[in-house]
Amino acid sequence: MYDVYKIRKDFPIFDVLVNGKPVAYLDTTASAQKPQSVFDTMRRVYYEFYANPHRGTYYFADAITAAYEQARKTVQKFINAGDNREIIFTRNATESINLVAATWGLQNIHTGDEILISEAEHHANLVPWQHLCKISGAELKVFPLADNGEYVAEEFLARLNEKTKLVAVSAMSNVLGTMFPIKEIAAAAHNVGAKVLIDACQFAVHYPIDVQAVDCDFLAFSGHKVYGPTGIGVLYGKAEILKKMPPYQFGGDMIENVTFEKTTFADIPARFEAGTPASVQAIGMAEGIHYIERIGFDNIITHENELIKYTTERLSEVPQLKIIGTAKNKGGVFSFAVGNIHPQDLAFVLNKENVAIRIGHHCAQPIVNRMGYNSLARASLGLYTSKEDIDALVAALLKAEKFFREE
Ligand SMILES: *Cc1c(COP(=O)(O)O)cnc(C)c1O
Repeated sequence: MYDVYKIRKDFPIFDVLVNGKPVAYLDTTASAQKPQSVFDTMRRVYYEFYANPHRGTYYFADAITAAYEQARKTVQKFINAGDNREIIFTRNATESINLVAATWGLQNIHTGDEILISEAEHHANLVPWQHLCKISGAELKVFPLADNGEYVAEEFLARLNEKTKLVAVSAMSNVLGTMFPIKEIAAAAHNVGAKVLIDACQFAVHYPIDVQAVDCDFLAFSGHKVYGPTGIGVLYGKAEILKKMPPYQFGGDMIENVTFEKTTFADIPARFEAGTPASVQAIGMAEGIHYIERIGFDNIITHENELIKYTTERLSEVPQLKIIGTAKNKGGVFSFAVGNIHPQDLAFVLNKENVAIRIGHHCAQPIVNRMGYNSLARASLGLYTSKEDIDALVAALLKAEKFFREE
């Protein structure tokens, strides 16, 4: 039995009272809260064997190197990569995508080429490609979604051709919750000779990923969304592609041999991890992943699916509320508008009621505009979200709606 109340006890932040009352945290899409075991793991590293990994020949250095490389294997298993050298640690998903754009992209994208993305991409999976197109002379193509946020295969396929060198899509939208059929998309892209990058920032929090089954060439996600710390991200790349890519940054740890005349670079993954790595964060992220694994995706999915249904039903009780993004296959992200109430005003009332949601363009301005808004409110779910959180949201929304209607 999934006991969400027991799970919540693992998260110290839920003990915090604001103005004497608990907070309904409904912003997991922006960043997840972290369980005690993540803090304990990171504290243990600092307290018991902290040093700079890959550099020393003493106990602490060996211990942290082993833990850092074990974290790489944990990530490898988490996404079912075939080889642990295919896992590169970065600062966050944004850096992972920028790494691909600045290395593989500059090497392989030229005038006349096309990069294809969906219209629902996060700025992290849009602006790097826009910049790459600007400096390479390539063209950025965007495939639209249906009005309800549903993926439309015909729209994607109509813009895919032999000029397409890269397809970059998210597996799950952080605004609409839409899930994209990434395996199908990857197969079609490979058919025309394009490479495929999957932005798994949202998907990885809620569903298991198998990079070999999807057959993507690159995949990115962030530690802070998979219940781990900030400052750590993952780039997966197929070994045969990574091996041909030039370095991203230059300095310590990424070299093989250095003289003043010439430097040769280390093999993957070290070639892409210049400088002292965020070792403690990587180890902390691995514990976030272990936490997910201990609960089990089957259980998480069952719990979240029930909550998605509950949230959809309860939100319908709020007069004038419109959910933006109602794809059949969607995850626990609810962007919405309530009549003409400005999201800023909504958020003001919700904050007074200790309900934490995100408002704004959600780092995906084009899709918010395309849906007809400048700003949207968004409530999102995580494995610790309870029905009481949703009840608090709905109660606060009813209060806000009534207040602004009578005003
Ligand atoms: C959060 C997010 C990103 C960016 O992640 P960072 O940790 O800010 O680098 C990219 N894409 C999606 C879909 C996201 O939700």
